[in-house]
Order: sequence, then structure tokens, then C-alpha cells
Amino acid sequence: MLKHLKLPAPCLNFYTLDGMRTYRADLHIHTVLSPCGSLEMSPRRIVDAAIEKCLDVIAITDHNSTHQCSEVVRVGTEKGLWVIGGAEVNTREEVHGIALFENLELLQQFQLYLDKWLPNIPNKPERFGYQVWVNAAEEILGEEHRLLWSALNQSLDEVIAMVASLGGVFFPAHIDRPVNGILRQLGFIPTDLPIQTVEVLRNDATMDELRLRYRIISNSDAHTPEQIAARTTCLKMEALNFNELRMALGGVNGRLAFVEGRC
Ligand SMILES: [Zn+2]
Ligand SMILES: [Zn+2]
Repeated sequence: MLKHLKLPAPCLNFYTLDGMRTYRADLHIHTVLSPCGSLEMSPRRIVDAAIEKCLDVIAITDHNSTHQCSEVVRVGTEKGLWVIGGAEVNTREEVHGIALFENLELLQQFQLYLDKWLPNIPNKPERFGYQVWVNAAEEILGEEHRLLWSALNQSLDEVIAMVASLGGVFFPAHIDRPVNGILRQLGFIPTDLPIQTVEVLRNDATMDELRLRYRIISNSDAHTPEQIAARTTCLKMEALNFNELRMALGGVNGRLAFVEGRC
């Protein structure tokens, strides 16, 4: 009888010999706000799914918007899950990149930047999907009427500089994806691009050359609750805070970030 019981997957966090801990992270998750995000991606569903899948930290990264972050942070705080606010920015080169920020005040400043540079192309909800953000009770709080998929009127360099000026972290998203990945959009990663980390879909031998230059991580890019933690990043850090995350993504002071399963 017992062998038929379905137990949740064990959480694999562990302490390392140097006193640091590994944490499981999924740093690229969309919500109901993204036109392509499932209506099921509400704050509560996202946080519940992340906890069920033994994640220690998630990041909310809707296309060109941060409006849903604060409610997911609120639910995460209630339930003991660290939620980082951010966005998946689409640059003028049509390159997608993940920007993450330490707190909601900095996130608001970044939202002003997004508002300034997002083109005034109207969304067609019936065609592209609704762009609303909701509270913990799944009541609609607001709607973005401009199409969030559009490319910002800002270059990749300008976006990275803006994120840095707010003390945030930035990494190119799904670099090996045929659409909106930097390798396909530009054909290469400029050597002078001020980044330390890149996100990949497939962590295979094709990444070995880039591995010499960058930390390689992988995240789910979830658009439905089921997709959360489909790909995850291990963070070797002393504690769960933004400065530790910054060091882990930079691979400094003994901190590390790496694709889970490739320790
Ligand atoms: Zn993307
Ligand atoms: Zn995405």
C-alpha cells in the first residue's frame, strides 16, 4: 500500500564544506500580465507551485513590465518564499534579457523607464492575450494597453546601463532560442558587453566555449504553473539576499550560479 503513496520530490538543498548553501532558483517566470502568460499565473498559483517544487527563490519577469511583481512578492513573503521583482526586457535589437532588482522602490524606477521607452502600439487582447495584473484574491488591479511584446526604443547597451544604475542584475535570456535569443539576433555576444551570466535553454556541449567567458544558468521561462521549475539554477551563497545573488551571478567571493544538475 505504502509504495503507491505519491510523495513530493525531496528538496535537494544542502550545505557545502565552506559553510555556504545551495539554493534552488527559477529566475524567469511570467504571470497573467504577459500577453502569452496563462490566466492561471496568478500570484497565489505561482507561489504555491514554486513552494511545491521546492524552490527557494523565484523571479517575476513579465515582458517589459513590472506591474505584477509587488503582489507576488506580498504572497511570497506571507508564505516564506523569496520573490524577486524584475522584467524580461525586449531591446531594440529584439534581444530578450532579464533584469532583476533588490526592492520595490527600484522596481518602480525601472517601471518609469519602461513606460518611457515602450512604443505606443496598442494591444489587441482578443489576438495577443489580455495584459492585466491582479491581487492575491485574483481581482484585476490594472491593465496595460500598449503591447508588451514590442521592442523598447532602447538598445541592449542602454538597457544594461539603466539596470546597472539602479543596482540591478541583468543577463541575456534563452540565448540559444531561435527567436529573441542574443546568439540568433546578433549572431554572437559582443565581448565588451558588461555581463557575467547568460541563460540557456540547453546546457550542452555547444555552450562549452561560452562557459569560458560566462556563468551559464537556466530557468523555466514558465508561462503556466506546470512549467515552473522545468529548468532551474543552483545558487551557492551564504544567505538568501540580493547582494549574495549578485555575487553568485558574477561568480565572485566563492559564490556560484550554475545549471541544476551540472554542479
Ligand atoms: Zn523571452
Ligand atoms: Zn520569458
